[in-house]
Amino acid sequence: MRILVTGGAGYIGSHTVRMLENVAEQVVVYDNLSKGHRQAVQSSAFVQGDLFDSPLLAQTIRSQRIDAVVHFAAFSLVGESMEKPNLYYRNNVQGTLNLLDVMLENGVDKLVFSSTAAVYGEPACVPITEDTAKDPTNVYGRTKLIMEQAMADYAAACGLKFTALRYFNACGAHPAGDIGEDHCPESHLIPLILQTCLGKRDSIKIFGDDYPTKDGTCIRDYIHVDDLAQAHVLALQALYRGSASPVYNLGNGCGFTVKEVIAAAEAVTGRSIRKEIVARRAGDPAVLIASAEKIRRELGWKPEYRDIQSIIQTAWQWHQTHPEGFSS
Ligand code: UDP
Repeated sequence: MRILVTGGAGYIGSHTVRMLENVAEQVVVYDNLSKGHRQAVQSSAFVQGDLFDSPLLAQTIRSQRIDAVVHFAAFSLVGESMEKPNLYYRNNVQGTLNLLDVMLENGVDKLVFSSTAAVYGEPACVPITEDTAKDPTNVYGRTKLIMEQAMADYAAACGLKFTALRYFNACGAHPAGDIGEDHCPESHLIPLILQTCLGKRDSIKIFGDDYPTKDGTCIRDYIHVDDLAQAHVLALQALYRGSASPVYNLGNGCGFTVKEVIAAAEAVTGRSIRKEIVARRAGDPAVLIASAEKIRRELGWKPEYRDIQSIIQTAWQWHQTHPEGFSS
């Protein structure tokens, strides 16, 4: 396997690169560093480039004899996507279409694509299977769903072979402690909680406690970033074996409320956390829990991190040693 990883300097990308290095003949990271961190890529080849730079993309694919792509490079903040839809359609849709053109023009027909639970919107029931109705409630989810549909059309017409992986809530950090989550600005629950534990924030704001859940706060399915990374390796291997173009959910299959996540972080860190109840965040569904039975059955995927405390423990190790993220 000779793999190009777009967005490989980002959070899920860098953990996947680390895992691919154990199984692939060559791994090349292609990232414009608009969100990613150069320090997150240590051993693999690195090209600083943009999805819209077709000549550089083509030259990288040819010179490195790439035969498959794992495509992470995208914008992924729900709130921002509602305020700046142009950025999301341009980067996530147009950028990916550009990548597909360059790949196919250069004889690369295999792609693993980062998708999201946001394609489902507010599901009628949980757990969510891949067949659950797709009705995104935000622009980010729509850009990912549009690309899933476009790739299916390319598969039918142009021989593209792709796998779309719909992530639920990615979290945790590499057990080696040297790569982890570092977004600017940070908007994700677990990093914000841990930054509060470190005294970098006064309190954690809970976005609504009047949802129809056991304690009134939103329920999410938290999945460790290394378990996500493992799924990419399995998906690639299946594409090389000639699998059709499947779509898979990636989650643990169990849900935790925001309050339960905070309590778990208090147990892991031994620190108490100041909480503040604030208004709901627009576009947040009450409950998102995955059924990942399909990828377990078809590819033998088995998440290693099954309980929320062990996931938070890996994140806590990263945040304690990197309080300023990669610039620590
Ligand atoms: N959340 C919260 N306070 C925060 C950030 C997030 O209460 O400061 C809640 C959010 O409403 C959601 C859950 O935590 O129910 C996970 O949010 P996150 O942004 O981490 O991931 P998302 O579910 O948006 O992908």
